[in-house]
This record gives sequence, C-alpha cells and structure tokens, in this order.
Amino acid sequence: MFESLSERLGSVFDRLTKAGALSEADVDAALREVRTALLEADVSLAVARDFIKAVKAKATGQAVTKSVTPGQQVVKIVHDELVHVLAGEGEPDALKIDNPPSAILMVGLQGSGKTTTTAKLAKRLKDKNGKKVLLASLDTNRPAAMEQLAILAGQVGVDSLPIVKGETAVQIAKRAKTQATLGGYDVVFLDTAGRLHIDEVLMDEVQAVRDIAQPRETLLVVDGLTGQDAVNVATEFDGKVGISGVVLTRMDGDGRGGAALSMRAVTGKPIRFVGLGEKMDALETFEAERVAGRILGMGDIVALVEKARETFEAEQAERMAKRFAKGLFNMNDMRSQLDQMLKMGGMQGLMGMLPGMGGMAKKAEEAGFNDKMLKHQIALINSMTKKERANPDLLAASRKKRIAAGAGLEVSELNKLLKQHKQMAEMMKKMGKGGMMKQAIKQMM
Ligand code: GDP
Repeated sequence: MFESLSERLGSVFDRLTKAGALSEADVDAALREVRTALLEADVSLAVARDFIKAVKAKATGQAVTKSVTPGQQVVKIVHDELVHVLAGEGEPDALKIDNPPSAILMVGLQGSGKTTTTAKLAKRLKDKNGKKVLLASLDTNRPAAMEQLAILAGQVGVDSLPIVKGETAVQIAKRAKTQATLGGYDVVFLDTAGRLHIDEVLMDEVQAVRDIAQPRETLLVVDGLTGQDAVNVATEFDGKVGISGVVLTRMDGDGRGGAALSMRAVTGKPIRFVGLGEKMDALETFEAERVAGRILGMGDIVALVEKARETFEAEQAERMAKRFAKGLFNMNDMRSQLDQMLKMGGMQGLMGMLPGMGGMAKKAEEAGFNDKMLKHQIALINSMTKKERANPDLLAASRKKRIAAGAGLEVSELNKLLKQHKQMAEMMKKMGKGGMMKQAIKQMM
C-alpha cells in the first residue's frame, strides 16, 4: 500500500541524502516536492500546507545529529510528523463493546466494502476477543445485500438476524437489538443500506436507526482508493450522523495513501482499521507508525537517526579517553564529565550504582557533594572564555571575580572548582602515562 507516495518521497529524499550539507534553500526545495507528492497522492491542499509548515518549523534550527546526513534527518522529521498527524492524540484503538449487547453501526457508500468489513470485524471479535456476535443487514432496498451478509456470517461462523420481508430499517434495528439481548450477544452489527452518493432520504434513515439503536460505535467504511472523495464522504457522514471512527478499505491496492493522512487531519476522526484484501482475515488495526513508515518506505532511516544519537555520545567518550591518555584535561573536559554525571542520575545516582557506595552517598551529600554543586560548577565553567577553559591557570584575580559574578556565585566556589580540576588533571596525567586511563574509561562506557 501507499506505493506511489512512498516512491515519490523516496526520490525526493534520495537527492537530499546525497547532499553534504543542508541549506535552507535545500530544505525549501525538498519540502516543495514533498508538498507536490502529497497533493498528487490526493492529500488535500490545506492538509499538505499545514503538514509542510509543521515539518519546516521542526527542521529549521534543529541541530543535525552526527553520523547521519541532513537529508536523513529531514526524513526522520517528516516521518515523526506523519505519525503525529495520523495518530492524533491518544485515541483508544479498541472498539467499545463493554456494554452487551453493544451495537455497532456500519455506514458508508455502496461498494465501499461495508458488508465485507462488517463480516471481517465480526470474525475478529469472535476469534480474538471471544465475543458472541450477531449481524443484521438493514439494506431494505437490496435483498441481495441482505443475503450477502447472511452468507458471510455463515463463512466466519457468527449468527445473522433472520431476514423478514417488508420491514423498515428502523424495525429491523429494533428486532436486532431485542434478539441480541434475548440471545445473550455481546455485540450486534447493524449494516446500514449503502448509497451511491450522499442522499438525504437515506441519511434520515441512518439517523432514525442511530436514535433507536444507540450504537457504542458508528464506523464509516470508505474506499481508500477514492482519495479526496473519501474525505468529503467522511465529513458529510460525520456532520449528519456523527462517526466514531473510520475503516479504510482497499489499502492492499496501489492506493494513494493520501486518503489516510487527509482523513485524519480533516475529520479529526481516528482511522481504526484498514482493509487489505477480500479475504475475511484481511483486516488490520490501523497503526500510525507502520503507515508512516510505509508512506516513506524508509523505516530504517528513522531507526538509524535514533541510533546515531547514542553513537554520538559513545564517540564523544572515545575522544575524551584519547585526550586523557595524553594527560590532557581542561575545563571543557571537566564540564563534559560533570554533564555526564548529571545525566547519569547525579551524585546520588552514580554512587548508588557503585557496589558498597550506598553509605558513602549520604556522607558525600553532607559534605556538599551534591547535584547543586555539579550545577554550580557547570555554571562557573560556562562563564569562562574559551581561552580560559583551555588553560585555567591563566585566571587573574579580577577575572575570577567576574566569572563568579557571571555565574551568580562566590569566588570561593570558583577556587574550589579550580583546585578540584588541578587534582583531577594531575591524576589524569599520572594515569595517562601508564595507559591505564584509556582502559579505565573504555571499561566505564
Ligand atoms: P458494500 O457495498 O459497501 O457492502 O461493499 P462490499 O462489502 O460488497 O464490497 C465490494 C467489493 O469490494 C467486494 O468484491 C469485496 O470483496 C471488495 N472488498 C472489500 N474490502 C476490500 C479490501 O480491503 N480490499 C480489496 N481488495 N477488496 C475489498
């Protein structure tokens, strides 16, 4: 699914991933192509525009992670934004069937795959959730459609409401609810009459059925191949009857995945399931991560960027180990160490990790070795100039005053930091000579 969109974005990012550095013009050019690709994939204009805007805002000013290309980084940002739009904010993905018999109203245009989807969902609830399911067709205009549902019910091994000629949709809905209660069913599906296009009479009928059946869910089934039309249909149905979710069918074809994106962005309704074929088990829950990955066709890059973040830290450690081995330890190194300590859970966290140091942690805390001290020391180092950090021995008394004031601290604290640094540098030098330091640091990593 989503092949065309995936391919289009693929070629855009191919170009981007080959570029060494990413200028703002590069980003703009690439995003223009992403926008075109989205539009051609039937994403609505407004949705595409908002999407590009969000990606641009996130891409601009973001530090490029080492060891991935800027293009790869943009791919990750596009991916994350796709997931964001597709997933929405923490919607429940399970169907609400907690109040037996729970009615599920199935609505949609004729030929969208509504009847097929109804049977697929019934099978799923029976097989996966062990639910007792009843299916009822309300399509009084098309006896063939009623029979079709009964046949499919038999295929998936659930019951269907006996067909009674001459009943209205509302009467069938009432009978289905009664039967579901008497028969001890957990779920009753009401498969409403399909229509060729939005039709007032049929809409009124769905409203009347809805009022009688009080469904826990109203699922709209739409053909994922119809792109923008699918979005319009969803907007109409939601306005008239109110839908709780969408099922996108025919996502197995060479669909233009844009429907999923626009659907979510325009209607604000969650896509609950996707249909992936004609067989009764060709139905999957909608997963934003996976769909976004397929849209981009570049899932690996996302993992790569995440990995690179970790690798970068490992590289930094390696670089420091080399410096220490040479006996080099300036204020920048010290700051990295302090940052690292804070990241690893501060003084308490670090000592807690070392066996037999639990008691020491408390003593150290009492002696003033705490996170506040770490933060103060980092602030002091930050208010030094580059030259001073490289060589803290240069510090004159007047500069010390300025640095302490810059960090909002006393000169005595700066002196303490300088003394500590000197001791550590001495120690590094000694250990560095024997090559011990490199080993020790490597082991720590
Ligand atoms: P209804 O008129 O909305 O009830 O549509 P049907 O359920 O009768 O489906 C119409 C046709 O679409 C049937 O031939 C189904 O087998 C087919 N169909 C339904 N869902 C899917 C799907 O997810 N993928 C594919 N490839 N075909 C589907």
